[in-house]
Amino acid sequence: METKFRESIKQAVHNPNLTGALGRFSEAYRISRQKAYEGYDFEALRTRIAERKSHAASHLDELADLFTKNAETRGTKVFRTNDPAKVREYILNLARENGVKSVVKSKSMASEEIHLNKHLELAGIEVGETDLGEWIIQLAGQTPSHMVMPAIHMTKEEVATVFNEQVEKGQNPDIPKLVKFARGKMRAKFLNAEMGITGANIAVAETGTLVIVTNEGNARLVTTLPPIHVAIVGLEKLMEKFDDVVPVLTALPKSATGQLLTSYVSMISGSVPNTDGTEKQLHIILMDNRRTEMSQDPKFKQAMQCIRCASCLNVCPVFRLVGGHVFGKVYTGGIGTILTAWFDALKASDDIQSLCIQCGNCTEVCPGKIDIPGLILELRRRLAVEKGQPLLQKAIFSVVNNRRLFHSMLRAASLMQKPLQKDGFIRHLPFFLSEMTEFRSVPAIAETPLRDALKKIQQPACKEKIAFYAGCLIDFAYPEMGEALVKILNKAGIEVIFPEGQTCCGAPARYSGAYEVAAQNANDNIEALLTDNVTYVVSACPTCTVALKHEFISTFESLGQTNALPRARELADKVIDFSSLVKKLVDEGRLKFKEGQQLGKITYHDSCHLKRTLHVSQQPRDLLTRAGYEVAEMYEADMCCGMGGSYSLKLPEISAPILERKLTNIKNSGALIAVMDCPGCVMQIRGGLDHHKSTIKVEHTVQRLADELG
Ligand code: SF4
Repeated sequence: METKFRESIKQAVHNPNLTGALGRFSEAYRISRQKAYEGYDFEALRTRIAERKSHAASHLDELADLFTKNAETRGTKVFRTNDPAKVREYILNLARENGVKSVVKSKSMASEEIHLNKHLELAGIEVGETDLGEWIIQLAGQTPSHMVMPAIHMTKEEVATVFNEQVEKGQNPDIPKLVKFARGKMRAKFLNAEMGITGANIAVAETGTLVIVTNEGNARLVTTLPPIHVAIVGLEKLMEKFDDVVPVLTALPKSATGQLLTSYVSMISGSVPNTDGTEKQLHIILMDNRRTEMSQDPKFKQAMQCIRCASCLNVCPVFRLVGGHVFGKVYTGGIGTILTAWFDALKASDDIQSLCIQCGNCTEVCPGKIDIPGLILELRRRLAVEKGQPLLQKAIFSVVNNRRLFHSMLRAASLMQKPLQKDGFIRHLPFFLSEMTEFRSVPAIAETPLRDALKKIQQPACKEKIAFYAGCLIDFAYPEMGEALVKILNKAGIEVIFPEGQTCCGAPARYSGAYEVAAQNANDNIEALLTDNVTYVVSACPTCTVALKHEFISTFESLGQTNALPRARELADKVIDFSSLVKKLVDEGRLKFKEGQQLGKITYHDSCHLKRTLHVSQQPRDLLTRAGYEVAEMYEADMCCGMGGSYSLKLPEISAPILERKLTNIKNSGALIAVMDCPGCVMQIRGGLDHHKSTIKVEHTVQRLADELG
């Protein structure tokens, strides 16, 4: 990771204006988005959008031809190119041929993508952005920090300073007055410009229509007042039918800003007369810039389903801390990372891909149904193939891949850590490891790992057997969680088998792009877990559960190792998470809670993988309630705690503030016990609270339930 990149993260995280504005917006956004979608079937809506956009991506060539034919029939000139340089050249030539000295633009990410403003300005043409946010950042000499709200990172005071320095002195930080001032300045620009440049939200092939959505109405003036209108349209905006506009326009304002409707929707089908009666020149540039290639890539084709609503940015716990500028490119956030890798270069996404914490918030809200974290993992895999794995990482994974060596090293570390640990925590680590304990304590490695402790537990002889996949944290840091699980399942008449050959689930390797290592881990675990005749393979770690249930399969698929798939699927069918299993056993009457207990208030934190990949969130709450606890919901219970596996080690400057927010929400819930289903979250949150010297207890659900089931 480049030092410059790390520096930019630190600066962003310590910029109170930025984090304040983004934090407030993201909190308000969640509420307004939810309200805007009330009465709508979001799943059905986004399925329709995804289907129609995917259909368009499969027929790009045909649709581009059809759009061209229909638009040209209506007097439009259509130019199609793969090359951003040719787009710039086309516009510059057009401007020169027509003596254009002044251009007005409405917001267009496609024009940002090709750095059009700079190109025109170098040729002596004045370019005026007319979207207020775009104008502000143009004056400030910045790039947009957000796809929909380009100047969201700036306060009214900063905007007033920019206006004072760049336009006219005497502006105060009063929002209505600043808007009025901007409007006055822009009106003159609209009237004087000889060319208007826009993007488009949709290009309808069957009619040759451009659909442009704005909140400020500026696109209407840009497209009508100047005698020349140029629209730069990325090929992903093509849709086949006029009917396809409906679901996109239904979702776009709700997902973008939580509005029911956007203020202005312009539909332009062919050129129209100017106010003086002459014919307006309408030029539409269909810009490819590797979009066709993207649409032919089996993994990345789904990125063509993006409607550029920026919802994924609005809900991202990392984006709301660092904003858009750390991405260093035009497109920001998770989807921006993917677009940068394609429209710029794969290596341009090298540092920024590491910002994704894989919480899955974005996928849950994406109206294009895009698996953004999954695509970022694929970028990591391709980057690892292209540039090779770093030496240190290679060394670590070679140890992890050797189960006996890995486990012997953990046992040795448990002895060596003795001088550093107290009460089960290591609170200060020396040298280059010190960053790990700057914002949280870390757990000491257990004296006796679960695999050894279980050998001493006398289990009743039972007909039914379930295999337990512990994962590294429960096995070596929190064996008491595994012991609690055995206790519960024994009560249900189930014997717990601990297959000795189990090893790391491969998530650290997979999340680093080292798929070959992850595949080796997958093979070892499949071998170990499918040997006994068990009803289920249960795990009390959601990250491991997701690996066993989904990621072994997708890793083999990505590597083309199809012969490994049948066994991976056989395992996946048997895998279940702890809470779902216990809920099932309770519902079947095989486990019963003690009667009439009133155990007091607790709060529950949703682990990202459990809630968003495994879709389990109500089950643990039901179990805890039936046990006799009062579940006091914390604010943003399903927001990431900042752990993200090795993320908290790689990017502590981001992990720490995300954790702080979670700790505040836990404290504000008023509960004295915080419960969760993930040992990784326990490690992060318990360590954070210990760092704060808080007395709030943090436990895995399995521990809270072990004594309450009769
Ligand atoms: S990826 Fe999804 S959520 Fe993000 S901008 Fe595109 S459509 Fe919107």
